[in-house]
Amino acid sequence: MFRKIEAIAIALIFIGFLLWVSSSRFSFVPFSILAAIGLTLLVIARSRTQRHGSFLCRIGFHKNKHIGWDDEMKSVAIYQCERCGRTKKVMKTV
Ligand SMILES: [Zn+2]
Repeated sequence: MFRKIEAIAIALIFIGFLLWVSSSRFSFVPFSILAAIGLTLLVIARSRTQRHGSFLCRIGFHKNKHIGWDDEMKSVAIYQCERCGRTKKVMKTV
């Protein structure tokens, strides 16, 4: 979820930058607004994800361990990260 916010934040900064370089006049204002929103989102996202601890978990490399199977769908395996405790469901196709 937080990585999605980071992606949006980076996209906003990037779009702002494109607006800035593509037009010649009065374009610094939309760029700075977009960049400010983007940077704020990025800082919020980063400060929240840092609570998970591990750097590897923050960049998406979880140490997933198979902990069980879904009650409703038997073909869905449940994995949990040993470092941050985040669970993930994976569909096992036969
Ligand atoms: Zn993790």
